Amino acid sequence: MIHINEELCVYCGACVAVCPENIIDLVDTHLKIDQPKCIDCMKCVKGCPIGVLSMERNGKIYAFDYPDRGLF
Ligand code: SF4
Ligand code: SF4
Repeated sequence: MIHINEELCVYCGACVAVCPENIIDLVDTHLKIDQPKCIDCMKCVKGCPIGVLSMERNGKIYAFDYPDRGLF
């Protein structure tokens, strides 16, 4: 499951553009993800320029440490 920090999102659309499944939609100032169709590829997490997306899998949170972009 992808988590969004909505308070920090600047609605740039970068995550929409990189999702290979086309399941992220930017509707006005709200990001919608069709979570059941997510393949956990993390492209959106990596592609967000300000790191407001993270992925939760098996109880673990995966995100990128900006600006170093190290996975933690
Ligand atoms: S993890 Fe991959 S499939 Fe899931 S929303 Fe992000 S880019 Fe799309
Ligand atoms: S790439 Fe990041 S800042 Fe841009 S719309 Fe997606 S979550 Fe928001």
